[in-house]
Amino acid sequence: MKDQKPKIWLSSPHLGENEFKYVKEAFDTNWVAPVGPHISRFEESLSLFANNQPVAALTSGTAALHLALILSGVGPGDYVICQSLTFAASANPIRYLGAIPVFVDSEEETWNMCPRFLEEAIENCLKGQFKTGASESYSGKAKMPKAIIPVHLYGMPANMPEINKIAGKYGIPVIEDSAEALGSTLNNQFCGSFGEMGVFSFNGNKIITTSGGGALTSKNPEFVQKAKFLATQAREDAPHYEHKEIGYNYRLSNVSAAIGIGQVEVLPLRVSARRRNYDLYKENLKEISEIKFLPEPEGYYSNRWLTTVLIDGSQNTIDREKIRLALDEENIESRPIWKPMHLQPVFQNFPFVGGDVSANIFRLGLCLPSGSNLENSHIEKVVENIKQLFH
Ligand SMILES: *Cc1c(COP(=O)(O)O)cnc(C)c1O
Repeated sequence: MKDQKPKIWLSSPHLGENEFKYVKEAFDTNWVAPVGPHISRFEESLSLFANNQPVAALTSGTAALHLALILSGVGPGDYVICQSLTFAASANPIRYLGAIPVFVDSEEETWNMCPRFLEEAIENCLKGQFKTGASESYSGKAKMPKAIIPVHLYGMPANMPEINKIAGKYGIPVIEDSAEALGSTLNNQFCGSFGEMGVFSFNGNKIITTSGGGALTSKNPEFVQKAKFLATQAREDAPHYEHKEIGYNYRLSNVSAAIGIGQVEVLPLRVSARRRNYDLYKENLKEISEIKFLPEPEGYYSNRWLTTVLIDGSQNTIDREKIRLALDEENIESRPIWKPMHLQPVFQNFPFVGGDVSANIFRLGLCLPSGSNLENSHIEKVVENIKQLFH
């Protein structure tokens, strides 16, 4: 039954008209390798969405975060402060390096890193005393954290002015996880360009895709240069293969970059289509008081990568799981909000600073189908199915 209904995806790839042309160029010129002219073209076009900062194209957002942490000098036993409400890829690279993630709760206004808890987390690092996600205590060395990773979740910018102010006070570099926020701005500045370094992702479900890929940007061109160097096996400038450092195979392929050039061309259209999805859901579900949307604070402009709602009503018998399952019956894909890292079995013994803001967002939150290729009739169908449950 269910499988006979047309699938409505959460967020599926949406190609424009030129991607295939650029891929064909790559084939025709035989640049089917992790070097080639499309890589630098892709980097230049991306730079326009990173406040004209230089960009390094990489194999994934996760790889970009890994390199950003290496470039920040993170090593075994160091503290790295990370937003708890996020996808696991924000935190995993901290563990690749044997460092200790210190998870920080969210604020209600953006769902992103709470500046107040951030400062508390830094102070706890300086004492070496914490609680953990499992509400036990964690004690480690008293020292300054090496990096701070805020995330612009679902495209909504984090409070970068406050986060940068606190980071600056302690001299800690900020690595912005902007994987979900390409094209989002805060006070007319693009996300990814606020921190020491910023990271983007072009995985299949992101706002634009190269089938798989990522990028690192920085206002410091040396970081970007060094990221490219480390991403190509840290090969020194010599006719033979000379290595003074450990390298990685993280450079994006020229074929993927060719897809990326076409995708960046349509990025502004993708942002407006996703924002329109949000507006349509909000307008059509406004009578249901139990469904709450996250508005943009003044100066914030979200790419609305995914439209997210909280199902919140005290005498409510309909919860987010009921809605998710009902939609699933109709072959409509929706998904709970990311489960906070401090509640994940793999991270629960690491430090956590905060309260229950992110835990509540996870408990109540649902991501609705949000692709830029959705038609009005798809959104209407999702809305109808949700409305039925509340009647
Ligand atoms: C997708 C994503 C990543 C990882 O990007 P990949 O390209 O899939 O490795 C990191 N952080 C967040 C918040 C993401 O959504």
